[in-house]
Amino acid sequence: MADIMKWILARDPGEREFHQAVKEVIESVRPVLDRNPGYIQLALLERIIEPERVIMFRVPWMDDQGQVHVNRGYRVEMSSVLGPYKGGLRFHPSVNLSILKFLAFEQVFKNALTTLPMGGAKGGSDFEPKGKSDNEVMRFCQSFMSELSHHIGPNIDIPEGGIGVGAREIGYLFGMYKKQRNEFSGVLTGKSPVWGGSFIRPEATGYGAVYFAAEMLGTQNETIEGKVCLVSGAGNVAQFTAEKLIELGGKVLTLSDSSGYIYDEEGIDKGKLAFVKRLKNIKRGRISEYIDKYSEAQYTEADTSLDYNPLWNHSADCAFPCATQNEINEKDAYNLINNGIKLVCEGADMPVAPKAIDIFLDNKLLYAPGKAANAGGVAVSGLEMAQNRMLLNWSAEEVDRRLKEIMHNIHQTCLDAAADFGQPGNYLAGANIAGFMKVATAMLDQGLV
Ligand code: NDP
Repeated sequence: MADIMKWILARDPGEREFHQAVKEVIESVRPVLDRNPGYIQLALLERIIEPERVIMFRVPWMDDQGQVHVNRGYRVEMSSVLGPYKGGLRFHPSVNLSILKFLAFEQVFKNALTTLPMGGAKGGSDFEPKGKSDNEVMRFCQSFMSELSHHIGPNIDIPEGGIGVGAREIGYLFGMYKKQRNEFSGVLTGKSPVWGGSFIRPEATGYGAVYFAAEMLGTQNETIEGKVCLVSGAGNVAQFTAEKLIELGGKVLTLSDSSGYIYDEEGIDKGKLAFVKRLKNIKRGRISEYIDKYSEAQYTEADTSLDYNPLWNHSADCAFPCATQNEINEKDAYNLINNGIKLVCEGADMPVAPKAIDIFLDNKLLYAPGKAANAGGVAVSGLEMAQNRMLLNWSAEEVDRRLKEIMHNIHQTCLDAAADFGQPGNYLAGANIAGFMKVATAMLDQGLV
């Protein structure tokens, strides 16, 4: 096992996030390999961590002043062993191969846990949509899709949204694909329900994370009602995590973006959340503007000179990191515990750094890894694909019922796998083991390809 880590460190030097994601899975699946020594000779791990295909391409586009810019586009097709490649797109200046490989790797196991027939992929670009006009975003999306369209299709690879890729971007991307291929198909998910999307897809990741948290609390005869919650982010996942928490009687104190966070001691209620949605999704403003409207709240600017994030240093019961990777470090973990947190549920992908995870597990917190807790988004994407194939639209109630059932099943799968391998209550081990076993079984069935 140590050899595999040495191998990828030498082979892919500098891919820090990818190494982090691989190490976590390798450590969790050690008992599976002990039980199935044949997997080692078949180099299953080595095969799982090597993408089936990586596509990297130039994305030239013109701004409103006529200046041409060049960004880099990617699609990492990690595994198609369980179905066509499936996973989001991320547009953010930090995007690089390491980040997309980590996300694609996580996606393989996440998709396996949903039980829907989907392989794993991730893509995106180092393009920054913030501060760009709608026309600039459209031109960028069209240029990006003019290349990506050669590599995707409704039975090959079906991208969806993610950081920086919301309803607006999915619309522009879909329009270009349709024009180029002369084909109206379910090639992307997260489409508007007006033209082929599924109800509840925008809500699914956040709602699903809260359903998962409710399942975890249920093991201790507790519910969301009355729980005080810290939420980070103010994008898609954070908004709908907050919405479901409020609906189930929780009290949400915080939201953030990369510039800072707001703390509202009275709680962010439905009306205040509607303001945040308008601010972020329509006005494309900053979370700091919340205090212009709700002056009782406090705004704290992000301070990179601190070795902790003050958002995680408030008294509460539950924490939902919903912004980005590695947003909770060791110090934040101790702050959360000292402030009475009993549950940490990852809405974002890999938001808790490895040492912080160890601290949560050592202190017996209810800790849910993103690949289980945020799988509701891709699960409803799978349901969108099913509806597209059948040429019908399920009602919002029907999709939400299926989402709840999927989250219930993922929760049970994690618990069962963890118990089976001697780590009862460890959702991280359970998610990694259950996802890995499904992928490994399919790989064995399909031979050395
Ligand atoms: P959005 O772009 O809608 O929102 C992201 C939020 O996180 C914004 O508030 C953004 O602030 C903040 N953020 C992003 N990068 C950073 C950073 N480097 N430092 C601090 N804050 C940051 O994305 P989503 O809500 O869709 O995604 C959030 C997380 O959830 C990601 O990890 C994503 O991979 C994961 N996820 C999303 C799914 C989905 O269905 N959307 C499905 C499963 C996982 P700012 O506006 O300032 O950049």
